[in-house]
Amino acid sequence: ATPTALLVGTGRGSQLGILIRGPQILEQTRRVDTIVLDKTGTITTGQMRMSALHAVPGQNETELLRFAATAENGSEHPVAHAVVAAAISSGHELSTAEAFLSHQGFGVQAVVDGHLVLVGRASWLRTEWNVLVPDELSAAIGAGEADGKTAVTVAWDGQARGVILVGDSIKNSSAKAIADFRNLGLMPVLLTGDNEGAARAIGSQVGVNDVRAGITPQGKLDAIRELQAQGHVVAMVGDGVNDAAALAAADLGIAMGTGTDAAIAASDITVMSGDLLVVGDAIRLARRTLGTIK
Ligand code: ADP
Ligand code: MG
Repeated sequence: ATPTALLVGTGRGSQLGILIRGPQILEQTRRVDTIVLDKTGTITTGQMRMSALHAVPGQNETELLRFAATAENGSEHPVAHAVVAAAISSGHELSTAEAFLSHQGFGVQAVVDGHLVLVGRASWLRTEWNVLVPDELSAAIGAGEADGKTAVTVAWDGQARGVILVGDSIKNSSAKAIADFRNLGLMPVLLTGDNEGAARAIGSQVGVNDVRAGITPQGKLDAIRELQAQGHVVAMVGDGVNDAAALAAADLGIAMGTGTDAAIAASDITVMSGDLLVVGDAIRLARRTLGTIK
């Protein structure tokens, strides 16, 4: 294998809108047998929209949305974008939250009008903050998740105030791309921090049956290592800050160019358009390129 021949591959890659970190990447690409896919922003568009809001009795909905959106204002997570967009489109002017902190894969905390506001997974509010989530909110979360939505709970001053449901849609080419991965002999696995209901709903629509939901960023990394320990050569495709560790650990890290800088920096290949079909093209190209020089 001469470096020049390999560079031809990377050159053609750039015409497909693929950035390859270096020619040594092609060898890993050829050996991959498992492809782990993030859900939000990778299989789906990542453009989440708010679909419903439930306040606890006595809680004003307008205030609920304003507090949640102000707290989410500093986050780049798709859930945060959905909450902020919903608040802006209903005419809220958002002030800047103080003491904003993002907890990757769980939620955010910030101080709004002197109140410590939390927005995130109900399980995180319960276990890390001792927030009681009342039955009526748990029911709204359960119904939303069964419908394929992502549910986040909003609390302040230690009390749960409501639930916001958000959802996004599957990219047009995702199902076709996953069928193509199978043709290439790759086993697809869906790995997401989102809930089981939403993850299964998406998995069944795109043809992935190995679905692992509710996974933390550390858990994503562990899942990659576990597949490798079983002897698999693993590609991971992701877009989020929460995917960065897993992307770096994978034999082949593939970032969506539409995603975060952290995901791109951790990856070997970047697919500029964020189209999963191009991932299959990249793997085919790498195999063909190596084939011609062997
Ligand atoms: P994914 O794997 O689907 O990209 P993440 O690991 O980023 O998901 O997040 C997992 C879950 O953590 C989300 O579904 C959501 O419930 C919660 N979460 C993460 N970030 C935020 C945020 N900024 N605001 C509210 N909830 C969040
Ligand atoms: Mg994602």
